[in-house]
Amino acid sequence: MMTFIYSILVLGVMGFGIGIALSVAAKKFEVKEDPKIEEIIKALPGANCGMCGYAGCAAYAHAIVEQHASFDLCVPGRKGGVSEKVKEIMTKTNQENTNSQKQAASK
Ligand code: SF4
Repeated sequence: MMTFIYSILVLGVMGFGIGIALSVAAKKFEVKEDPKIEEIIKALPGANCGMCGYAGCAAYAHAIVEQHASFDLCVPGRKGGVSEKVKEIMTKTNQENTNSQKQAASK
């Protein structure tokens, strides 16, 4: 009976310790992503058809933000005005960045 109780205790302590270690590692090695990417992914149709020349909508959103890909490559989204929405997101966030940089410089 004691073996059973010790086994439960050891496994419980190990599980708790590993859980804490994993949560600390997740925070420490967290990859910060530009919030524009998530906004653009939400604006895209989500068909993941690849007609834009990228592996899917997320890859295209990454390419827009990180590689300055053209806004109008999404063929299924043309009728829905996706390129205008993406342009608006990129312009809005660029203006916000410029304004915050100006405020930081004026201090
Ligand atoms: S063409 Fe549009 S819907 Fe298709 S994968 Fe590219 S972004 Fe997504």
